[in-house]
Amino acid sequence: MRGHAEVAGGGFAGLTVAIALVQRGWTVRVHERSSGAQADGAGIFLWENGLRALRALGLELTELVGAHEASYWEERDETGRLIGRRELPLPRGIRMVTLARRDLHRALIDVAREAVVSVLTNSAAVGADPDGTLLLANGESLGADVVIGADGIHSAVRDSLGLLDRHELFEPYRIFRFLTSLDRAPGRDGEWRNYVDHWNLAAHRRVLYVPCNERDLYLMLAARADDAEAVSQPLSAEVWCESFPRLEPVLAELPKRPHVDRYEAARVRRWSSGRVAIVGDAAHAMPPTIGQGAGTAMINAVSLASALSSCERVEDALAEWEAAERPETEVTQRASIDRLETLFPRPGERRDSWEARPLRAAGRAVAPSNP
Ligand code: FAD
Repeated sequence: MRGHAEVAGGGFAGLTVAIALVQRGWTVRVHERSSGAQADGAGIFLWENGLRALRALGLELTELVGAHEASYWEERDETGRLIGRRELPLPRGIRMVTLARRDLHRALIDVAREAVVSVLTNSAAVGADPDGTLLLANGESLGADVVIGADGIHSAVRDSLGLLDRHELFEPYRIFRFLTSLDRAPGRDGEWRNYVDHWNLAAHRRVLYVPCNERDLYLMLAARADDAEAVSQPLSAEVWCESFPRLEPVLAELPKRPHVDRYEAARVRRWSSGRVAIVGDAAHAMPPTIGQGAGTAMINAVSLASALSSCERVEDALAEWEAAERPETEVTQRASIDRLETLFPRPGERRDSWEARPLRAAGRAVAPSNP
């Protein structure tokens, strides 16, 4: 079928489903709560599944934005000693690239506008009705053939329909993310071009070092929530440099207001209610331990558009879509949660091979296209 969709949330999931639907002959309006097209959160890893989702929209990522593809994923202890090295691309040619979130977001916004998706900013959803009505904070009720809640981990659309089972917070870590200049890195070759997970095993602190393009370096710092020295804000460059002396050039100046996160997940009862679907973090937010949140969201967004376009009844399409995508999504979410247990290397542990479940998630195919 073809029809009209109202989408809450202009993040990766919302824009992906909107573009995919328009390409299949639908009209779509996206409601984004914030005032601009800024994607928070510094950098992002996009694995093969995310790249496939973009390709299904007709986008070749590296033609759109600056991105980086390292030759190795390395892990080092606080002295710089290598404790693991894995080659990229991964087995079976599975690629992993990194980029600044704002670049990916801007590329999707540009394509959405070109495809004539209407994207309204400062337009917050407060809920939805299963009959296919999106309810906005300004009091408007908008009817559609399908309403899609792509409004993130705290989805108002999902919660208004009682679809949330539980929201889980996994202590004890605090995560700080920011972009800095790649010019600060001690080198531009060898190790300094790779993705490197630095572990201070004694202090239980972590710095993930991620070049994103020719200018942006994404750093993710993590420490236990009760490690007051490391997590008190403003972050202390002195404390972090002491734990990671080799990274002093990039840690010497820390941002006043980094993006702060915790490891969390959303578990839901169902992915739809009547003519309303939830997609992306709204349906399956997961800890970023295996870098699969956005890739999974985008794959599921493309297949949602595909299912909607190939069925005559919206409710049937949503049921088929959930049956097809949810089992694999839950394997991925489970893997991201289980990974928390073994996140920090044990003394003497080597990390030279990829785990099976992230590979399985990254190798997920896009649902066949039904234009
Ligand atoms: P979001 O990105 O949250 O987008 C939701 C959008 O909806 C936002 O624009 C928001 O402003 C808007 N919105 C919210 N409420 C409303 C409302 N009521 N009305 C209208 N609009 C609303 N994933 C990866 O694949 N690779 C990574 O490397 C990676 N790293 C991560 C690191 C950290 C520390 C964290 C926390 C997550 C990471 N993720 C990663 C996960 C990834 O960020 C998410 O899975 C992804 O952003 C989900 O996209 P989404 O569009 O579903 O939700």
